[in-house]
Amino acid sequence: MVQKGQIGVTTDNIFPIIKKFLYSDHEIFIREIVSNAVDATQKMKTLADVGDFKGELGDLSVHISIDKKNKTLTVSDRGIGMTAEEVDKYINQIALSSANDFLDKYKENANAIIGHFGLGFYSSFMVSKKVEIITKSYKEDAQAVKWSCDGTPEFTMEETTKEDRGTDIILHIDEDNKEFLEKDKIESLLKKYCRFLAVPIVFGKKQEWKEGKYVDTEEDNVVNDTNPLWRQKPAGLKEEDYLKFYRELYPFSISDEPMFWIHLNVDYPFHLTGILYFPKIKNNLDLQRNKIQLYSNQVFVTDSVEGIVPEFLTLLHGVIDSPDIPLNVSRSYLQSDQNVKKISNHITKKVADKLEELFKKERTRYEEKWDSLKLFIEYGMLSDEKFCDRALKFALLKNMEGKYFTSEEYKTLIESAQTDKNGNLVYLYANDRQEQYSHIEAAKEKGYDVLLMDGQLDTHWMGLLEQKSDKTRFVRVDSDTIEHIIEKEETAKVELTDQQKENVSEAVKSQLPVMEKTEFSVDFKALGETTRPIQITQNEFSRRMKEMAAMQQQMAFYGEMPDTYQI
Ligand code: ADP
Ligand code: MG
Repeated sequence: MVQKGQIGVTTDNIFPIIKKFLYSDHEIFIREIVSNAVDATQKMKTLADVGDFKGELGDLSVHISIDKKNKTLTVSDRGIGMTAEEVDKYINQIALSSANDFLDKYKENANAIIGHFGLGFYSSFMVSKKVEIITKSYKEDAQAVKWSCDGTPEFTMEETTKEDRGTDIILHIDEDNKEFLEKDKIESLLKKYCRFLAVPIVFGKKQEWKEGKYVDTEEDNVVNDTNPLWRQKPAGLKEEDYLKFYRELYPFSISDEPMFWIHLNVDYPFHLTGILYFPKIKNNLDLQRNKIQLYSNQVFVTDSVEGIVPEFLTLLHGVIDSPDIPLNVSRSYLQSDQNVKKISNHITKKVADKLEELFKKERTRYEEKWDSLKLFIEYGMLSDEKFCDRALKFALLKNMEGKYFTSEEYKTLIESAQTDKNGNLVYLYANDRQEQYSHIEAAKEKGYDVLLMDGQLDTHWMGLLEQKSDKTRFVRVDSDTIEHIIEKEETAKVELTDQQKENVSEAVKSQLPVMEKTEFSVDFKALGETTRPIQITQNEFSRRMKEMAAMQQQMAFYGEMPDTYQI
């Protein structure tokens, strides 16, 4: 008996709209169809696990095949299958309820809605002129059914014969989408969307090179890794496993090994697994942004996470997987999704936890990595307030001797000796050992400590630290003579009259090369006492302003600036 009916949509025809609006994302149909097959298979496993299914599970692989002659692409599973009632319920009625919402909204605002609604199974109509479902439920004595629809709201459903339990989805690919009948195309899409699905996905046979050409072997070509590293228990994993997985994730694009990684394994307040790798960062040309891949239950969602995870986390590499990340929605929707926001805040917290732990438990190792870590942490602190407050505990200052301090530790070190006349704590720093050599030496001779601040973000970062703790002042060693920066009640050995000072100044000035906007000062107090009585100085404030402006210009050169700092 052939049943005819109307798919449960109120409007005349949803299919032209599906085609039109999801045009740019045509290829995701494969993810939708294959992940449905995987869902049905996992439900089957669950039924067997809880004892509701007592038969043989058999091979549970999902098979994908192309028939070029008949222009079909078929996805077959041995999952739970569907009875006629279930097809009616899940395909004819429910599956399109979200599409109804889609249409309602579409009438109101055509621009904002694209991709807000998961079309799941119906996305197959983006590339097909006809879709058939041949399915047989796992239930005893189930009758197999065939459902067919040619892209109009009418469908047919009839009894058919099918030996095995499970579902075949047969897509009759239309003229405009012939590329989806190409083996290489499908193979690459499977690699993109299905690489870590939890059930083996078989696409043809493995090939071998024989007598000058590739020939099929007997062995199935499984395209995915069903048990990816991030889903495994961290306790059983070794360093090599993580490094191997890193290479597996980025086989072509990244050559350096990561510095270290965080294995995320969160059960509360939501499920979240993943591995985040800290890449080695030497300078901003090395940076490979947006290398994080988002998964929802091992189904690939996107690898462009800008706007989805906090800006500074886009510097990390790796995988984030959560069933709470919605699958078939657009980027703009992902960016505004509350769950996704919570997840990303939580990741920030976890990253801070891990860094703090590493710092506390393995300080030496942490210090060894600091020079590479620094850019990342400073960037995080500058762009994320919460992370900043956490990171104050493990952000390090490095001095000229190569020793590392937290800001607390450093404060203790300089507290007694380095204050200015207003009672500010003075953090002396240099950013060029050669250029500021004599000033550094002068400071050291007086028993002061000098920090090395030669990083790309250091100027901004020092500003931030000054904001965060009052009575703190960063002063570059050459911005004035040490005596002017750090006030000490010392009586000068040499007293000169104003006239004498004037004369000395003139004499010195005449010997200096012409330097624009550079000040110099003569350390009159120190005359006759040190080997460096004359120092060329540059005012801290005006110099820092200039540096920031230059950096802003440079950043603009590297690309569009987000609302935070771009590096
Ligand atoms: P979703 O997967 O989000 O539920 P879909 O439109 O992808 O939405 O699928 C609709 C429903 O059709 C599924 O929930 C499932 O009940 C049923 N279905 C789709 N494909 C299969 C399949 N291969 N085996 C069994 N049931 C399926
Ligand atoms: Mg689905």
